[in-house]
Amino acid sequence: MSEQNDTVFGKIIRGEIPSDKVYEDDDVLAFQDLNPAAPVHILVIPKKYIVNAFDAEEDDAELLGKVVLAAKKVAIDQGLEEDGFRLVINNGEGVGQSVFHLHAHVLGGRSFSWPPG
Ligand code: AMP
Repeated sequence: MSEQNDTVFGKIIRGEIPSDKVYEDDDVLAFQDLNPAAPVHILVIPKKYIVNAFDAEEDDAELLGKVVLAAKKVAIDQGLEEDGFRLVINNGEGVGQSVFHLHAHVLGGRSFSWPPG
């Protein structure tokens, strides 16, 4: 995906708009969701521009693993190890993706139903 990342998360990565960061390394960034849907609601994103899982390639396998491991770290830092957390990636407008830069929602701190709505 070589085109300019004009999404709000692209702007956060470039520092053009602020975010409440909780974790960052060379490849991954995690920050508080602006409209939390749970007591803990943090977004973990790859710094590389990937639209969603449909846009991911074999070469992105390690990076996507880093997203999951960063989510684990964030969840532990937030004290969710005992009660657990939900890790959600919406892929496509039809299932609720509203920002078209891949992001994993780390959700916790309340009970969750299944199947998700
Ligand atoms: P999704 O609907 O899966 O694409 O999730 C997008 C998420 O991004 C939503 O939970 C929004 O609340 C969140 N969001 C949108 N803009 C911002 C922002 N500037 N900073 C933090 N979170 C944001």
